[in-house]
This record gives sequence, structure tokens and C-alpha cells, in this order.
Amino acid sequence: MTPIEKLQGSLTTLGLKAIEARLEALLEHAAKSEPSYADFLDEVLSCESEARRSRYLRARLQLAHLPYLKNFDQFDFAFQPSIDERQIRELRSLRFVHEDSNVIFLGPPGVGKTHLSVSLAEASIQSGFGAYFITAHDLVTDLGRAYREGRLDRRMRVYLAPRVLVIDEMGYLPLDDLGATIFFQLVSARYERGSIILTSNKSYGEWGSIFGDPIIATAILDRLLHHSTTINIRGNSYRLKDRQRAGLLPRPEDQQVPPIVAAPTVGPNRRNKRDTA
Ligand code: ADP
Ligand code: MG
Repeated sequence: MTPIEKLQGSLTTLGLKAIEARLEALLEHAAKSEPSYADFLDEVLSCESEARRSRYLRARLQLAHLPYLKNFDQFDFAFQPSIDERQIRELRSLRFVHEDSNVIFLGPPGVGKTHLSVSLAEASIQSGFGAYFITAHDLVTDLGRAYREGRLDRRMRVYLAPRVLVIDEMGYLPLDDLGATIFFQLVSARYERGSIILTSNKSYGEWGSIFGDPIIATAILDRLLHHSTTINIRGNSYRLKDRQRAGLLPRPEDQQVPPIVAAPTVGPNRRNKRDTA
């Protein structure tokens, strides 16, 4: 058995797969650059620990159930000038996670609420926090079923455990009494114990209509907003922008060209119309 084969055997026994996979490259590199013993050992062990870290992050990302993976660098802030970039920078520091405070993105469909929530969840995971993403509708459906089956407390733990819980699309559908009560319980249980990132197309004033009861809406908002940052996005849908580019909708500059023949009327506000999410 050659020394290399013996080494490979030990690496297999110890489960050091990343070092095993790069063994020859590591040895060749060391033969060329002649590092100190300590530097060589460090390089070898870093190879394994980096591989483990990225495996761990991948697993955490999968557990988070993000609808897609996007980050802040992929967000075009110039397209959405109503967003204060300083506020976003502050959020990116993840101080809100350390402080167990909440983030609420409000605005019409397509303005980037989910994208920014996903980016914050991803950044949290990169920093070692657990995160979980779910739509408000799925959340309430799941917990409603658990309630009817007499296992609400146990099921609730799924949504209490992650340090960051993203609740997407609050307000698209109204909640019934049970849904509202369950939502209140969840927000109360996470209060000052974990962050909620929430997105909604409804302003706070309209929340009464989501819960069908202004008293429970107030109680929920009271806890949700006590330690929180609200990002109000007032702008055009990014999805609509893509459709404009594809020529499916008139672009603003096209509309300024006077029509030679009577063209079918296209309202100038068409591009401001809400996108169907
Ligand atoms: P919503 O506000 O409805 O949650 P999303 O965040 O899902 O909207 O955005 C819709 C799509 O447009 C996504 O693919 C998202 O990545 C993209 N998007 C939205 N705003 C921007 C932006 N300012 N820059 C880049 N992509 C954006
Ligand atoms: Mg969305």
C-alpha cells in the first residue's frame, strides 16, 4: 500500500470527503509552494470545513422553502426609487434578527416584496440563523388543519422554531375567524422571540378587512409593529416592465408618439394597473 493509498483509507474512515477528493491537488500545491507545517495543515483542514459549511448552508436553504433564490445584488433599486436604500442597508446588517424585530413590506403586486424578503431570509441563513418561508394562506390552512386534528401546539412549533419566519402575501385572501385567531396566536408567540418578515398588498388601515374584525386586527398589528420596520413600496410592477419590453404592453415612450391613424385607445395609466400576482 502506497502512502497515498494509506492516506486515502484514513480519510475515508474519518469521513473527510472533501480532503479526499482534493488530496492530490493539495499535495502537489504543497510540494510547489512549500508552506510551513502549520499553513499546510490549515489549508487541508479549511478544505474540509469550507465544504461542510456550504453543505450545511445548502441544507438550511432547502429547509427554508424559499420560492426562489434571489439576493440584494439582483435587485434593481433604481427601478424602485420609493425604497430608501439606507433602510435596506440597515436591514442587511441583520440587526433586526439579533433584536427579534419584524420587517413588513407593503405595496402592490410585482414591486419586489417577495424578492426582498427572500434576500433577507437568505442573508440570515448565511449568517447562521434558521429561516422559513410560507404564504399566509398556506400557513393558516396548515395550522387550521392541525387545530381541527387536535395538534395545533405541536404544529405551531414548526413556525416558532426558525429565528426568521417569512409570511408572504398577507391580505390577498381574507381570513375566517379561526384563521384570524391562529394568526394572532402565532404573532403573539413569536413576539420578542423571533423575527417575522411579512409582505402585504394591503395598507395597515385595510387590515380590518383581512381579519373581518378590527379588534383582532388591532391586536395583531400592535404586537407585529411594536419592534418593526415598514418598507412601503410605491411603484410599478417589475413583472409589467418585462412585459413592456416584450412589446405586450405599450412603453411610456411609445405613447408619446402621436398616432398617424386613429389608434385603439390605450389608457395612459395602463402600466400602473395592478399586475395579477
Ligand atoms: P411582489 O412584490 O409581488 O412580491 P416579487 O418580489 O415577487 O413581487 O417580484 C416579481 C418579480 O420581479 C420577481 O422575479 C423579482 O425578482 C422581480 N423584481 C421585482 N422588483 C425588482 C427589482 N427592483 N429589481 C430586480 N428584480 C425585481
Ligand atoms: Mg410576492
